[in-house]
Amino acid sequence: MREYAIIGGGIGGCASAALLNASGKDVVLFEKEPYLGGCASTFRHKNRYYNTGATTLCGYGEGRIVRKLFDQVGVNPDLIRSDPSIVVIHGDKTIPRYQDVERFIQVINEAYPHPKHTDFWHLIYMLATEFYTMEGYYYSNASRIQKLYSLCSFYPLLRKFWRYLFEDATTFIRRFYGTLDPYYLDFLDAQILIVSQVKSDSVNFLTCALALGYTFETNYYAVGGMGKVCETLTSKISDVHLSHPITSIQKTDKGFQILSHRESIEAKAIIMGTSYFESSQWIHESNINSYYKRYEHLNNHQSAFLLYLTIPNSREFAHHYQLISDNMIPFTLSKSLFVSISDPNDTKLSSDSTLSVTASIHTDERIWLSLPKPEYTHQKEHLATLLTQWICDTLMIDEHSILERFAATPKTFGRYINRTQLGGIPMHRHNLLPNLPSNDTPIEGFYTVGDTSYAAQGWPGVVMGAFNLMKVIR
Ligand SMILES: Cc1cc2nc3c(=O)[nH]c(=O)nc-3n(C[C@H](O)[C@H](O)[C@H](O)COP(=O)(O)OP(=O)(O)OC[C@H]3O[C@@H](n4cnc5c(N)ncnc54)[C@H](O)[C@@H]3O)c2cc1C
Repeated sequence: MREYAIIGGGIGGCASAALLNASGKDVVLFEKEPYLGGCASTFRHKNRYYNTGATTLCGYGEGRIVRKLFDQVGVNPDLIRSDPSIVVIHGDKTIPRYQDVERFIQVINEAYPHPKHTDFWHLIYMLATEFYTMEGYYYSNASRIQKLYSLCSFYPLLRKFWRYLFEDATTFIRRFYGTLDPYYLDFLDAQILIVSQVKSDSVNFLTCALALGYTFETNYYAVGGMGKVCETLTSKISDVHLSHPITSIQKTDKGFQILSHRESIEAKAIIMGTSYFESSQWIHESNINSYYKRYEHLNNHQSAFLLYLTIPNSREFAHHYQLISDNMIPFTLSKSLFVSISDPNDTKLSSDSTLSVTASIHTDERIWLSLPKPEYTHQKEHLATLLTQWICDTLMIDEHSILERFAATPKTFGRYINRTQLGGIPMHRHNLLPNLPSNDTPIEGFYTVGDTSYAAQGWPGVVMGAFNLMKVIR
């Protein structure tokens, strides 16, 4: 009988397994694919490597939560600092998002002149910095009483930020600036969307500040691909089973029986690192499925379309770009495209004088999942062509020099990592904490982690959940 079985080797599963292992617990980690990382993995295609989805690592600065994780586990990821963390290209404007707030304010004043920028961006900087350093709160969902106790731990946070919690960000920003240029709002919205998965009219101002302020945190490029960060994180765990999809989980008197095509093991506790919205497809245990069902309404079906390119290493690029168009891009939910280019010194992703490109844009999974094959193929090719041209025109890449090009839709993600919804739980201002899942559940010994659990998506959000898990497990 194992102590903890962790299902899914994404950021959430790897972080939880590594923390438990570091505290001397007996853990076994199962990952469906032959490599770790899930949305934050790195895969091989025709002998070249590409980051699957996530490309930026935030939260590894001094005293920040991702740094604490690696310090606690006792391993160091191979990272290069990215400053500017993103270069935003909006029409004819280029806005590098420098980490230094004063340097950034200078740039924003040149791009969208306004006398209120200094006050606004100082407020964003202050809120983000204070929030990211606050500690002491935790969230439990095991019972009503435990939930109530845990919510009390948020009191200092509430007291500090309450005035930014109850108004949507667009109204707040409009009031702050007096007037609001819709073009500047597009710039803000594009960045809010990539962090919170909704636009400024749907988030409260605190969430908006965290989304706009994450570029003032130290941001990193992962050498050898994002998947290598998860490999490093789990390097001290002896029992990591790759290419090992779990097909069934059953509750027993003593814990859980976990089945894969290859074996059956028993564990006292189970930690699900898989998506809340999709796990019911392959779990055949009625009380677990009814638990997941409770949160089905939080699924906004948001997903991503990915374009992967190999280009020649012919000139210098930033690590990350965000391109913003004046118009919505067909078959997507967005006007903006996030483009990441491998560092030329990264010998894995940038081999043979080439660079690896991962570009992503928000889409709705329903635009893709129900299409008959010919329409699906046509739509995929149409969007891939359009995005390739956009990238080439904006970043001055000769389209004929592209050595490899292929794309992934929500359907592709479903096939590989068992999930088509890729945005986690959107940070919509009506998705209030007491209504959200935590990392513990009312089912004894059954825990969850990842971006559909507490706290949020991305490295800092998912790692915050792994630390919360350690608190509620105790
Ligand atoms: C396009 C895109 C770009 C992003 N960019 C960034 C970024 O730049 N920076 C950032 O911090 N975040 C980014 N994010 C968000 C971040 O990648 C996710 O929030 C995070 O990776 C989610 O981790 P997770 O552990 O919750 O789940 P997942 O990554 O979904 O991991 C779940 C794992 O479970 C495995 N699994 C599924 N079913 C089974 C089964 N039956 N048995 C065993 N294993 C199973 C899957 O294969 C997968 O590896 C991005 C996300 C996307 C989609």
